[in-house]
Amino acid sequence: MSMDICDMAAEREQFDRSMALRQHAGHLPDMPATGACHWCDALLPAGARFCDRDCMQDWEREQDARRRGGLRALSKGSTDA
Ligand SMILES: [Zn+2]
Repeated sequence: MSMDICDMAAEREQFDRSMALRQHAGHLPDMPATGACHWCDALLPAGARFCDRDCMQDWEREQDARRRGGLRALSKGSTDA
C-alpha cells in the first residue's frame, strides 16, 4: 500500500466501477462496510469495503482458498513480529 494520492484517485474510480459491476453481478457477498478495509484494515471512507482492487482481489482469493480449504498457502502479510 504505497500509492500516491493521484494513483489512488484514478484507481478508486476504476475500483468503484468494478465494485458496482461485481455487486450487480452478485459476485460480492453482502458484507458490512466497517469503515476499514476488509483485507488490510486501512481506514476507509464510509460505505467502502476495500481500499483498492488489489485488496479486493486478494480478499476474494482468500475467500476462494478458504472455500477450498487451502488457506495455508496464503499469508496475509505477517504482522506478528
Ligand atoms: Zn486494503
